Amino acid sequence: MIIFKEPADLSLLLLKKAKENVATGFVPTMGALHNGHIGLVQKAVDENDIVICSIFVNPSQFNDPKDFEKYPRTLDEDVYLLEQAGCDVLFMPATGAIYPNGIEPAQHYELGDLENVLEGKYRPGHFQGVCQVVHRLLDIVGPGKLYLGQKDFQQCLVIKKLIGFLGLATELVISPTLREPDGLAMSSRNLRLTSDERTIATAIYQALIQIKNNINHTKLATLKENAITDLTAKGFTVDYVEVADRKDLDLKNEYDGNDELVALAAAYLNNVRLIDNVIIN
Ligand code: AMP
Repeated sequence: MIIFKEPADLSLLLLKKAKENVATGFVPTMGALHNGHIGLVQKAVDENDIVICSIFVNPSQFNDPKDFEKYPRTLDEDVYLLEQAGCDVLFMPATGAIYPNGIEPAQHYELGDLENVLEGKYRPGHFQGVCQVVHRLLDIVGPGKLYLGQKDFQQCLVIKKLIGFLGLATELVISPTLREPDGLAMSSRNLRLTSDERTIATAIYQALIQIKNNINHTKLATLKENAITDLTAKGFTVDYVEVADRKDLDLKNEYDGNDELVALAAAYLNNVRLIDNVIIN
């Protein structure tokens, strides 16, 4: 695996490869890699000639500076896992290489209601930061396929929109969420849980599964309320438990039996914020 830190060096290699019609797959991450990330890399390896993974903890998408500081960093282990998975290129730029003109955004991305619901509501500015970094990374890498995880459901919709209005030919490939045996969605932030918190953390997934299993015979409002009450009793501070339309995250209070829905939740255990989602039908 070749490691690049300078955008210009990586772009040069990839431009050369593009002339040879090489298929490129790109997996952007913030590191502290786990099997969820590695699954994306393996899929990219199966489907492309060259796979590029980036590790960049993007300061502009953290609305809480403490969350940024405490974000786990496990670089040696990450390099080992990527090599084992068959990744060809690791791109790990410094902040100044991604934002040569400073971190202040040069443009506003028009995301419509996606920016104001769920993660957008509870993490103001987060998706502008996500668009800013993904736009820059796509400019540098110019991949044929971009690999994302369904774990960040709203982020997938945001990036689909971004690719659309940038008019890129990049194909978006979304993989299902990889989970621990007890159902907890794999996440870099799980590393910050104590062992007691780790045991409790699976309750988020269970709450979403309860909604999925009962949606045909219990009112949605009741299901959401029950989930929040249950998670709060277990020690979570809940940002939201919601059910929404899968295509635009329009929030739902009633289920008509036809809508294609997703249940989503975000909650803190102490100061660790966990998110998860489950496709309902
Ligand atoms: P992150 O490093 O958290 O920014 O995640 C990088 C990519 O990995 C994103 O596209 C995530 O959605 C994806 N990802 C994170 N956790 C999982 C998981 N448990 N299963 C599948 N994909 C994941």
